[in-house]
Amino acid sequence: MVQDSYDVVVVGAGGDGPVAAWKLGRAGLDVLVLEAGPFHGNEQWPNPHEEPGGEASSDPSDLSGDLLDEQFTTRELEMTEKLLWGPADHDRGFWFRKFPGDGATIQAAGVGGTTLIYTSNHPRAYPAAIDEQGHWPSNFTYDDLVPYYEEVEAMTGVAPAPVTAKEELFFQGAEEQGWDLLDKKNVDEPGYRPQPNAIKQPSEKLHVDADYEGAVEYPDVEGHTMALGEISGNPFPEGAPYEEKAKQSANISFVPAAMETGNVTVRPNAFVTDVHTDSVLGTPEATGVTFRDTWDGSTERVDAEVVVLSAGSIETPRLWLNSDLPNNEHVGKGLTIHFGDNVMGLWRGDDARAELLQRVGKERVDQHEGEVIAARFDYPGLGMLQTTGTKPGIQAILGFGASSSGFTFTNDPANEPWDTEGRLAGPQLKRLLSDYRRMLPVLVVTDDRPHERNNVTVAPGASDEHGPVPLVNYSPSEGDIQRRDELSRICARILRSAGADHVHRSDSPPTAIHIHSTMRMGKVVDPCCEAYDLDRLFVADHSVMANSLGGPNPTNTGQALAARTADHIVERYFPDRASTN
Ligand SMILES: Cc1cc2nc3c(=O)[nH]c(=O)nc-3n(C[C@H](O)[C@H](O)[C@H](O)COP(=O)(O)OP(=O)(O)OC[C@H]3O[C@@H](n4cnc5c(N)ncnc54)[C@H](O)[C@@H]3O)c2cc1C
Repeated sequence: MVQDSYDVVVVGAGGDGPVAAWKLGRAGLDVLVLEAGPFHGNEQWPNPHEEPGGEASSDPSDLSGDLLDEQFTTRELEMTEKLLWGPADHDRGFWFRKFPGDGATIQAAGVGGTTLIYTSNHPRAYPAAIDEQGHWPSNFTYDDLVPYYEEVEAMTGVAPAPVTAKEELFFQGAEEQGWDLLDKKNVDEPGYRPQPNAIKQPSEKLHVDADYEGAVEYPDVEGHTMALGEISGNPFPEGAPYEEKAKQSANISFVPAAMETGNVTVRPNAFVTDVHTDSVLGTPEATGVTFRDTWDGSTERVDAEVVVLSAGSIETPRLWLNSDLPNNEHVGKGLTIHFGDNVMGLWRGDDARAELLQRVGKERVDQHEGEVIAARFDYPGLGMLQTTGTKPGIQAILGFGASSSGFTFTNDPANEPWDTEGRLAGPQLKRLLSDYRRMLPVLVVTDDRPHERNNVTVAPGASDEHGPVPLVNYSPSEGDIQRRDELSRICARILRSAGADHVHRSDSPPTAIHIHSTMRMGKVVDPCCEAYDLDRLFVADHSVMANSLGGPNPTNTGQALAARTADHIVERYFPDRASTN
């Protein structure tokens, strides 16, 4: 079913690759998408983790909501094993990356990529981060992105998230701290607002005051079911057809649209290990790729007029380095990860509970209700804050389980607006977690800046079945640390204003959830995202971002860039099809 040659081969069906495939398919190009992980909810692979199944899928009628319901069980451990970065046959273990210290890189494999486990927050970049920080090429501006934001936001249905108690509390605290409610998409001043989320709105009947007692299944309810679930896949609402699932991860939003063009074939379980080149009049150009079947280990070569790397900010530079492509000293360098932290408020004592009752009508925060991340605070120049709702296990790990400053009893944050700082264990951890329903965790997301010492490299001594593995280096700069400290203080004050009687700061070790800027525009790729050193090789994933966008969640921007890159591919190499795009 997979041909020997295509107009375009896209490597990776994660957050951004399917956007490029959709636009290229719509322009009439013959496109093959090669994805290292499995394809869930597809009739060709009824048991995607147990047996190899079919070869490839190009027919949208292969997509099945019922199968997705079966496969995405929402059981956290099981879903983590199924979705995190590793082969479909997860008995073989995860694919290895080396990351320094206590931190980790968190990515997923499979059609949908890391959006399979993301929380669907789709804000735009801060305009000043693109136009004023000096990292992006001068002939690329924020205004270039706006029409593409509009195009991808229409596809993902971005809309303000519904408000439950946890968001209401945060908004009240922010307002009492004197911050403004923002009502704009292009943010140029600090303030708070509901998250612009790529999740279908919940049915009215699930509104917190509606007293609905019926089935929480499609078609009784549509859209989000107000019961978290984003991180463990996207099965809700159960019973819904594939494309009616609420969370608009790329497998739901862009993959069906790409297949519906009739020109896009998706080949999962295909790990690309090599990019082929040829020299035409002395200029090297990409001519195709070799991929390895992750079930049987066989390899195959596919030729293409254009190759698009969409393997994400760690695997794209790894593939470049392992493929012996032309030397570019910036490949892999400049990694940004939004150097994050966790600050949380607790409402424990009688006064605090009474205040909760007065503010949200009950003595609980109930972080498990609503969308996982539904309220945000923006601060161009520093980064952002976002409330989170997680289940207790994840909360224990994220909020209390790891710290760069040791255990809480070794720290005395007397001059800071939080009461405890560091890692909690034993009886103290149990006591705080027993107040899970009166806890509001907030993620601190820093505008960290690109530094070449933060990078992805490979070393021949550390290899797996796909070649040398990525070695990831990251240490924040003094400026990054100061911006994160400042955001943490703002956060603690907001929580105090909302009545929290205990505020805890984790001082988390660097953990890479948002991963960008390892193949930067202006350094490795030109403003159209074609490699400076290799013609016909484009990059369409978060690695092309020249910085961390100022802090906003990156996927909306990655998708907007991928849509723009697809237009440039058509204009440069398939001009006869440009008019239909
Ligand atoms: C828990 C969590 C929550 C998040 N929430 C948000 C959020 O709310 N909003 C937001 O904007 N971002 C969020 N993110 C980040 C977001 O998911 C990523 O930034 C986004 O998915 C990155 O898109 P990408 O295309 O660059 O990479 P990915 O989505 O990682 O896609 C890369 C794809 O390429 C495949 N691949 C890799 N190497 C190869 C190879 N050699 N051959 C073939 N295929 C390959 C991978 O399997 C994967 O499918 C979150 C991340 C996590 C972990």
